[in-house]
Amino acid sequence: MCIPAYLKYLSISIITLIVIFAYTQYWYLVFIFGFIDFFIKCPKCHKPVIETKNGGVSPLRWYICDQCGQNLLKCEVEPDEVTNKRINKTA
Ligand SMILES: [Zn+2]
Repeated sequence: MCIPAYLKYLSISIITLIVIFAYTQYWYLVFIFGFIDFFIKCPKCHKPVIETKNGGVSPLRWYICDQCGQNLLKCEVEPDEVTNKRINKTA
């Protein structure tokens, strides 16, 4: 069974938000969740899902990989024609 990268990222983001609002005294946990986020990688380009095109980090990500255009809701790697078309469309 495979959990798509985006769902993993989303669940960690939601947990992080709950921690911020409900347990403000444990705010430092946000750093731990942020750290875990770096291990959630795009199945196609193997870059962290939260990393953006310019090498920055975005706390809120769309389900399309910023680096290669892969749909992060899918577990299987998409062919280049599919991802390239998607990048050109959104750019
Ligand atoms: Zn990618």
